[in-house]
Amino acid sequence: MMGRGWRLPFRLLGIPLSLDPSFALVLPLFAWLIASQLPAYAELLATVGLQVDGDALAQGLTPYLLGLTAALGLFASVVIHELGHALTARAYGVQTKGITLWFLGGVAQLEEMPRQRGAEAVVAIVGPITSATLGALLALLLGNVRMGGGATFVVAYLAITNVFLAMFNLLPALPLDGGRVLRSLLALALPRERATAIAGGVSQVLAIGLGVYGFLSLNLLLMVVAFFVYNAGRAEVQYETMRRTFEGRRVREFMSPDPVTVDEGMPIERFRALRTWKTHKLYPVVDVDERLLGVARITEAELAEEGVPLRTLVREADTVRPDEDMELAVRRLAGSELGRLIVVDRTNRVVGILAKTDVIRAMEGTR
Ligand SMILES: [Zn+2]
Repeated sequence: MMGRGWRLPFRLLGIPLSLDPSFALVLPLFAWLIASQLPAYAELLATVGLQVDGDALAQGLTPYLLGLTAALGLFASVVIHELGHALTARAYGVQTKGITLWFLGGVAQLEEMPRQRGAEAVVAIVGPITSATLGALLALLLGNVRMGGGATFVVAYLAITNVFLAMFNLLPALPLDGGRVLRSLLALALPRERATAIAGGVSQVLAIGLGVYGFLSLNLLLMVVAFFVYNAGRAEVQYETMRRTFEGRRVREFMSPDPVTVDEGMPIERFRALRTWKTHKLYPVVDVDERLLGVARITEAELAEEGVPLRTLVREADTVRPDEDMELAVRRLAGSELGRLIVVDRTNRVVGILAKTDVIRAMEGTR
């Protein structure tokens, strides 16, 4: 879903911080949006007794500088929210690989979800609590410290958005914090996969509701958020099925054993002919000692000239050992370009192939 992003040159409490490329687009966009809504905010603040001279702030570059400051403050608020999750996870002994900011907010990538009962709910709820507390502190600051018009506007904007951030994240839809709280609480009484399935169902209904509301109110951002929640909620349910199917199992149990291999010296014409009696798209290529050299694809062989040796078509294969953890293998498979891992033993001899289709078949069998 998200790329590597740009790693910032510092860590926060030991946690690396990255910006997704989409962030570069969103920062100026938010700055501009906030700036253009400045007069409306000034009116809103007046209703709670905060006098901000909207006209004075709308002069020259001032609204854009204020917009940029408020947008940066918004992203800092998101980072603080994610740090809330990360530090709570740390209290359960789980480290955070990094925090990434992207155009719909932030993600703290935990190494795994703490397995203690109810821990997921605690880790999740601390995010909105952090945001709500930050919002309350900013509101207190506003009520007790005299500030200029510009500062008043930025602090008030951040107070309101932090409270909004807390409320939005409490929506009981996976992968939002509220959805995680719901799933974790359900899992106290039900098997985890059942809890995930129910929380996933609630998420889909909510996402569709959000999407319809966004459509009717012509709110494009809300529609994008709804689409994201819908997909991410489904992915969450699939991940749970994956975990349940493969947890604690080995590659050997799911691979297709003893695959057809081809010798590096095979003439290319004969390699092409494999197509007529086998349906595989690629084959492991081995040397005279039956050790893996890589893989060759039928489609590439068809484009190659007559008489070229097969070994010139060999490209590197993603390999895995038969006794490796299946959950990890599935994750590697998901990122593999060829859609297959070649299973090799300690001496680099081919003992099987693990294809995406093997994984799908196994997951469908346990549904
Ligand atoms: Zn959160």
